[in-house]
Amino acid sequence: MKYVSTRGQSDPVDFLTASLAGLAPDGGLYTPTVWPTIARPKRGDSYVETATRVLSAFVGGTVPDDVIRELATRAYAPFAHQSVAPLVEVAPARWMLELHHGPTLAFKDVAMRLIAQLYDYVLEQRGERMTILCATSGDTGGAAASAFAGSKRVDMVILHPLNRVSPTQRLFMTATGANNVHNLALEGDFDGTQAILKQLLADDQFLRRTGLAAVNSINWTRVAAQSVYFAQAQAQLGADTPIHFVVPTGNFGDALAAYVASRTGLLQGFRCTAAVNANDTMARLLSGKALTKGATAPTISPAMDIQLPSNFERLFFEATSPDLAPGARDGAVVAKAYADLASKGEGAIPAEVAQRLAAAGFDAERVSDAETREEMKRTLAETGWVVCPHTAVGLAAARRVRNADSPIVSLATAHAAKFPETVKETLGIDIGLPARASPFVSRPEKFETGPMSADHVRKRIEDVIAGKR
Ligand SMILES: *Cc1c(COP(=O)(O)O)cnc(C)c1O
Repeated sequence: MKYVSTRGQSDPVDFLTASLAGLAPDGGLYTPTVWPTIARPKRGDSYVETATRVLSAFVGGTVPDDVIRELATRAYAPFAHQSVAPLVEVAPARWMLELHHGPTLAFKDVAMRLIAQLYDYVLEQRGERMTILCATSGDTGGAAASAFAGSKRVDMVILHPLNRVSPTQRLFMTATGANNVHNLALEGDFDGTQAILKQLLADDQFLRRTGLAAVNSINWTRVAAQSVYFAQAQAQLGADTPIHFVVPTGNFGDALAAYVASRTGLLQGFRCTAAVNANDTMARLLSGKALTKGATAPTISPAMDIQLPSNFERLFFEATSPDLAPGARDGAVVAKAYADLASKGEGAIPAEVAQRLAAAGFDAERVSDAETREEMKRTLAETGWVVCPHTAVGLAAARRVRNADSPIVSLATAHAAKFPETVKETLGIDIGLPARASPFVSRPEKFETGPMSADHVRKRIEDVIAGKR
C-alpha cells in the first residue's frame, strides 16, 4: 500500500512514512493510491478486532497484524464503555454514535490513543526519538497529551489559541503531569496555530534538524482509525441497511473517515451530512464556492471554529477524478487552487468537483448558536440526556434530514462535561466531570503564553529538544 500527495508533486511513500511525515514535501496531504477492500465486521465483532482489520489494510504489511491487535487492545483498554463507540437510540430511526468514552472525553481519543501506541512501537523498533507538534482547537491537544503522556520516545509540543479553548479542554492538555508534554498558548485563533504548524512542516531544514512530526487531523492514521467506528455502526444496524451519517464538522477529519469507510466497502451506500456552526466553509465548499481565508467566528462549539478545513483537500483531490477512481486523480488541480489561495487569497474549485461530491452523497447543514442551544434543551426534554454543544449541532442537523429510507446516525463527538459553562448557561445544570477525569483536576496546569509567530514556536521546539538530548 503506497501513499501519494494530494498535490501530485511528491514521490509515493509507504504507510509509516506517510503517517510520521504529516505533510508531504509538496505541501499536500498523503492519501492512499488505491482504496483497499476491507471485509465488513459482523454484528458483535469487537472494536479491537475491527480496528485491527482496518489498520492492517492501510498499514500494508509494515506492521504485523498481531502487533496491531496488541496496540489496539492497549489503546482502547482505558475506555469507559466496552464497545468503545456505543450506538444509542435518540428517537425512532435516529441514533447517536457516542465517541466520548475515552480518557479526555472527546472522539479525538479514539484515533490518538492508537497513534501513540503505533509511534512508540515504531520508534522503539528503530531506536529513535521524535518531537511531535500538534495544533489544537481544543480536543486534539488533550487527546494527544493524554495519549503520549509519559512516552519515553516522544516529546509533545502543543499549540492552542490563547483563551479560545474552554477551561476544561485546556485542563486535559495542560494537567497531564507528564514532563514530555509542552503547551504553548498563542495569541490568536486556531487557524493561526494551524498555519504555523503547516509552515514548520514545510520547512525542510527545520524538519531535518529537529525530526519533527505532526499528529493533526491531517494525519492519515487518524482518518483510518476513525473509519473504524463507522464500520461498527454499520455492523450494529445491519449489513444491508444504508445509513445516513450526520457529522459535526470542523477540520473535516470525521466526515472524511466516513467516506473512507464507504470507499473501502465497510458501509452499505453513502450519505453524509456535514453539520457546521457559523464557521460554515465546509457548506460553502460543498456548494462549489472558492477556497478563501476568512476570520474565524467564536461559537459555543469551539472545536468546530475552523475556516479552512484541512482534510477537505483530500476530498477535493478525490473529486478531481471523473468517477472518483483513484487512478485518475489530478494533484495539479489541487496544487493550483491552494497556490491561488496563498497568493491571491482565493482558490477556485472546478464546478464539477462540487457536483461529484454531491453525487457521492455529501451535503451540509448550518446550525447557529441559538439553534444549538435550542437543540440541547429539546434533547434534554425528549430523552433526559445532556449533550455537548458539538453533538447538539449534529442532532439539530439530523432533525432536518429528510431520508425516509435510512436510519440517521449522528456523531456525539464530546461529553457534555467538557463544556460545563455552556451547559450551565443553556440548561441551568451543573455538570461535573465523570470520575475517570478526576486525576486531571488534582494536578496543576502547565502552559506558557506567547505570540502567534512561527519563529517563536521554532525557538521553543529547539529549546525542548536541547533540554532533552
Ligand atoms: C474535533 C472536534 C470536532 C470536529 O471534528 P473534525 O474531524 O475536525 O471535523 C467536532 N466536535 C468535537 C467535540 C471535536 O473535538
